[in-house]
Amino acid sequence: MPFYSKSQLLPKLEELNVRLDKKRGQCYLVDENIANYIIKEVEINENKDIILEIGSGLGTLSDSLVRSGRRVYLIDNDEKITKFLYTHLKSKYNVKLIDLSSDSIDFEQFSDVKVIIINGDAIKVPFPVVTKIVGNIPYQISAPLIFKIIDSWDINKLKKCILMIQDEFANRLIAKVNSKNYSRISAAVGLYLNIKKIKMVPSSCFFPKPRVTSVIIELTAKNSLSSDSPENIFRKDYLSFLRGVFPFKNKSLRNAISFFLKNDENAANQFKYFKEIIKNPESYLFINKKLRRFSPQQLFNIMLYGSTGKSDILQEFKLDEL
Ligand code: SAH
Repeated sequence: MPFYSKSQLLPKLEELNVRLDKKRGQCYLVDENIANYIIKEVEINENKDIILEIGSGLGTLSDSLVRSGRRVYLIDNDEKITKFLYTHLKSKYNVKLIDLSSDSIDFEQFSDVKVIIINGDAIKVPFPVVTKIVGNIPYQISAPLIFKIIDSWDINKLKKCILMIQDEFANRLIAKVNSKNYSRISAAVGLYLNIKKIKMVPSSCFFPKPRVTSVIIELTAKNSLSSDSPENIFRKDYLSFLRGVFPFKNKSLRNAISFFLKNDENAANQFKYFKEIIKNPESYLFINKKLRRFSPQQLFNIMLYGSTGKSDILQEFKLDEL
């Protein structure tokens, strides 16, 4: 351990009676250089960092994280794998294995435990407060995971995330306004996070080989996540606004908002000032533009108006048109 090469990994999987399943996002890293590269990029602050690894597998990355970090949380939803990891780490460290299907738990009770292995679905289990997040993440759940990371990002604690994702998906995260890839997730990431592609990784570095090229990305927080900014205070509202309007990204802003309010009763109450924008003759400058032509910041300002009636969007769009 760790199982850097295919010839070390295969007999171990056989012994554990585990068959890796690509459909469950089980593409294991079998390239030592890439594993080391990821660990280097995490820049572990010895004995200070509290780290969450998503999709720990047999521990190719976990071993190094545990060695240097102060406390490490490992999540995987394959029971055979988490049990193995528990047995493996227990001989050296204070380890706790918890089976978690509920959506609430007080992680503070484990504050003197070095490694907490969570057997559960990373989308469902609550994230502990950590300083770094790492993961060669299952591609099937990349989008909900990124939304969850944005939603739960604690600006005072979480310094950065180093994630291995599908390259095509990375292109959606960084997509520019009005481009083909511009989507709900680009508008969410674009407002809150800095994203850097730091290394392309060919499929030959995994077993089994995924059909796609992967990339290691780094996510850090923008100032908009600092606690007193409106972007931060209205974070959940912005994310639910995006969820409601982006299915209509090729429609006009007017229609996207109308569909959103029609489809969702709560939204009509929560964003009650939208009706005024739609009625206001001055808004003709932008209300008929297609939704996908609005930048994340513009969408946020529109959302803020809908929610509070307080935003200078009419002014802003007049200037924008000049
Ligand atoms: N970190 C390891 C394994 C990566 S493969 C390595 O780099 O080699 C991704 C892992 O995520 C698999 O072990 C798989 O069992 C796990 N996984 C898949 N879906 C998951 C989910 N919804 N929640 C938590 N873990 C999941």
